[in-house]
Amino acid sequence: KPRVFSGIQPSGNLHIGNYLGAIQQWVAGQGQKTNFICIVDLHAITVPQEPAALHRQTRELAALLLACGIDPQQTTLFVQSHVRAHAECAWVFSCLTPLGWLERMTQYKTKAQKQESVMTGLLTYPVLMAADILLYDADEVPVGEDQKQHIELTRDLAQRFNYLYGETFVIPEPVIRESGARIMGLNDPTSKMSKSDTTRGHAIRIVDEPDEIRWAIKRAVTDSYNEIRFSDDPDRAGVNNLLQIYELLTGKSRPEIEAHFAGKGYGALKSELAEVVIESLRPIRERYYQLMDDPAELDRILAIGAEQARAVAEPKMTLILERVGFVLPN
Ligand code: ATP
Ligand code: MG
Repeated sequence: KPRVFSGIQPSGNLHIGNYLGAIQQWVAGQGQKTNFICIVDLHAITVPQEPAALHRQTRELAALLLACGIDPQQTTLFVQSHVRAHAECAWVFSCLTPLGWLERMTQYKTKAQKQESVMTGLLTYPVLMAADILLYDADEVPVGEDQKQHIELTRDLAQRFNYLYGETFVIPEPVIRESGARIMGLNDPTSKMSKSDTTRGHAIRIVDEPDEIRWAIKRAVTDSYNEIRFSDDPDRAGVNNLLQIYELLTGKSRPEIEAHFAGKGYGALKSELAEVVIESLRPIRERYYQLMDDPAELDRILAIGAEQARAVAEPKMTLILERVGFVLPN
C-alpha cells in the first residue's frame, strides 16, 4: 500500500479551502492507502500563537478532522509535538539546507510581509515539513497548490541526504487535484483562502452558522461580465472560485453547471451556492459538536495515533542519527 502523509496547522478557522483542497482527498484515500494525518502544532508557532488558543484549536482541529470523515481505524491521526523525532530530524535537515532555498519560498515571502518581526522558524518551516514527510517514508503528499514548492524542497533534501549518507529516504510525490487545489478568498479572489486571514467575509469556515455563510457569499467579490461560466481569466477569478466550490460540493460536471445557470445572474448563483454550502457543512458541524462533547474519547484517539506514529518515526530517526555519524546512546 502506498504511504500518504499530510499535515494541517491548528491555526483555527478551518475553512472550505482546506476541506476541498486537502481533507476531502485524505478521506477519499482511506482504505486504499496507509495514511498519516498530522496536526502540525510545531508549524503553527512559526507565527505568534496565544497559548490558550493554540491548546483549544489543536483539540478542535482533531474533532473537525474526525467530523470530516477521517477514520482513526484507517488513518493514523496524531499531533506533531507528540512525536519528538519531528523536531530532532528538522535540526539535522536544517544543517543540510542552503539558506537560499528557504529565502525564495513564496509562503515565506507572503507570511513574512504580514509579520512585524519575522522569526527564524518561519524561514525554516519547510525544513520541518520535510522532516514530517520523510520520517514516514511517504510516497504521496496530497496538498493544495500552495504547498507544491515545499514538496519540491522536500524532494531536494531527500536526494541530498541520500547522496551524502546513502539511500535513506523515499522521494515523495505531491498529489494536487485539478479543481479545488486553490480556493481563493471570497473578499479577494487574487489571494488564497487562509486560516490566518481572519477578515470577516474572507473565508467560509466549516463551523460557520448558515447566516454567516449567506452573508459571506452574498458579499463575495465578482466582476461586471455578468456571465456564469468557468474561466481562467484573472478578471473572472471571483466567479470562477464560486463555481469551483459549487462543482466540488455538488459533484456536477462543468457543462451541466453552466447550462443550469445559463441566463441567470450572479445573485442566483450566490444564493444557490450558499444553500449548497450550508447543507454540505451541516452534518460535519453536527458531528463536530458531538465529538467536542467527549474530550476523553478525543484524547484517547490522539494517544493511539501518537503511539502508531512513534512506531514508524522513532526507528527512522535512529537510522538518520546513525547515518550522520552520531554515537548512539546505549
Ligand atoms: P495558514 O493561513 O495558517 O497557513 P492554511 O489555510 O494555509 O492556514 P494549512 O494548515 O497551512 O492551512 O494547510 C492545510 C492544507 O490545506 C494544506 O494541504 C494546504 O495546501 C491546504 N490549503 C490551504 N489553503 C488552501 C486553499 N485556499 N485551497 C486549497 N487548499 C488549501
Ligand atoms: Mg498554510
